[in-house]
Amino acid sequence: MFNIEWLQSLALLIALSVLSNFVESKWKVDSLIGKIFQGILFGAVAIVGMMDPFHLSEGIIFDGRSIVISLCAAFFGPVAGLISSLMAIIYRILIGGYGTLMGILVISSSFLIGIYFYRWQRKSSLNYLSNWKLYQLGIYVHAAMLLFVLTLPSHKIVDTYKNITLMVLFIYPIVTILIGKILKNHEDKTKLFTELKNSEAIFRSLAESSPFAIFIYQGTKFVYVNPAAETLSGYSQPELLQKNFWDVVHPDFRELIKSRGLQRQEGEPIPSRYEFKIVHKSGKERWIDFSSSLINYQGKTAALGIAYDITEQKKAIDELIDTKDKAEESNRLKTAFLHNVSHEIRTPLNVIVGYANLIRSENLTLEEVKNLTEPITNNAYQLLNIIQDILDISQLESKQGIIHKEEISIKKLIKDLITSFSVIAREKNLKLFYGELPDNDDSIILTDKIKLQKILNNIVMNAIKYTDTGYVKISAKLSGDEVLFSISDTGIGIDNKDFEKIFLPFERTTESISKQYNAQTSGGVGLGLSIAKELVEMLKGKIWLESEIGRGTTFYFTIPL
Ligand code: ADP
Repeated sequence: MFNIEWLQSLALLIALSVLSNFVESKWKVDSLIGKIFQGILFGAVAIVGMMDPFHLSEGIIFDGRSIVISLCAAFFGPVAGLISSLMAIIYRILIGGYGTLMGILVISSSFLIGIYFYRWQRKSSLNYLSNWKLYQLGIYVHAAMLLFVLTLPSHKIVDTYKNITLMVLFIYPIVTILIGKILKNHEDKTKLFTELKNSEAIFRSLAESSPFAIFIYQGTKFVYVNPAAETLSGYSQPELLQKNFWDVVHPDFRELIKSRGLQRQEGEPIPSRYEFKIVHKSGKERWIDFSSSLINYQGKTAALGIAYDITEQKKAIDELIDTKDKAEESNRLKTAFLHNVSHEIRTPLNVIVGYANLIRSENLTLEEVKNLTEPITNNAYQLLNIIQDILDISQLESKQGIIHKEEISIKKLIKDLITSFSVIAREKNLKLFYGELPDNDDSIILTDKIKLQKILNNIVMNAIKYTDTGYVKISAKLSGDEVLFSISDTGIGIDNKDFEKIFLPFERTTESISKQYNAQTSGGVGLGLSIAKELVEMLKGKIWLESEIGRGTTFYFTIPL
């Protein structure tokens, strides 16, 4: 029963599957031309099988056509199945003999059963001819074949059944599975390949149109960069492909990114997302949000990076934090300011109220009343000065001041200043005089007279206040495109560490010393220098000082011409 013809048939079937795979890789099986080619191929193989068949008796031949036709219909559908069936039928008719009718019926039933399986497979969600389905196909096709034996002349029927039943029922279905599997494997591979190509195409178009920079680096080099990576870095794709992945990173982060990138490819656990700076081709620094993962690229380990520019975002956050800090600071200053104001106002007010009550409650002579009103008057003036200073500083800090420029003579301004302070200076036995002053012609400048007077008043008042013996000297000279004023005294001096502090509202050097000196004069709550500084800056000048404890102080300030 298993003779050389069977082996030949099997070899032919295997050759068929290989050829079919070849046809499928050339012409898509879904295309009409693909189906026609498969039909012709399967038809031709069925014919070749019939040329060298297993001769059971005169005019009765057995071969693999049932397998060929059923598989052709089951895998490639009606068009291919019909072509192969018609070719086989025509050839079978040409051969003729007792078995012609049976042969035609076997070919037709194989085609119809094959088509049934084709539909069944298409309808099923798996779209898949499993081994079990292939086996069922083999069984149905060959059960039909056994049925059609009945169409043979009656004296041939028994003999035929004896000879072929076992083989047709056991071997043919197994061969169907075998050939079906070869066809199926190729079909799977083709499907997988197509899916791979599709997903690769999807990834590419995603990457190419992505607004995020996408790049792959392998070892030390970039191996893929998308257009957004070109925009982000400023370098073209060929330029980037020449670079190490850390070349575009800002020097501050370069070592970190280099070691992380290399470690990641070694499979070490590295944070997958972080922020760092890169240097754009133009030289500008940009902050990026970067995330990375390990992938297999062209058979080797690589790192896939995704990045986007967060420079503006970072700037906005920094500005927000800055604004919040400033708001908190300003709130803190306001609270401190109110606290100081209430404290400074309460002191002279308490004196005024205390003395007023005293005058009311006692039976006093006119002389005594006069004596008691003196502290009231002094403290009332002090209160007035304090209130004036507070109003000045709050107006200046809210930058509400307006500058009224007019022509003034520096010489005259300083001489008038000396006249108005001479009484207080004389009371303290201090020499108050002017030093170097500009010539009459140069002395005229265009500035805000009231503000300049206020600056000089505050500084000269302090100089007299904090000097016990010696002198106070006021000078002015033209220097470049500005006037430089200087007020020197031989007073108590200021420690270097307080040079900045004294310009802040309510700040003094040593509270007790300042208080002691302030008590001798009217007013002074630590606002005089803050007001002077705000005014100098408003007039676009600068203020600073030189001082030595116990030897004296010189305040300088400039006013642009
Ligand atoms: P105050 O009302 O206390 O004088 P200011 O703002 O005018 O406030 O000055 C701040 C502090 O700077 C003073 O309390 C004092 O300690 C110090 N100061 C200012 N000018 C002089 C000066 N010429 N000599 C010594 N200390 C000074």
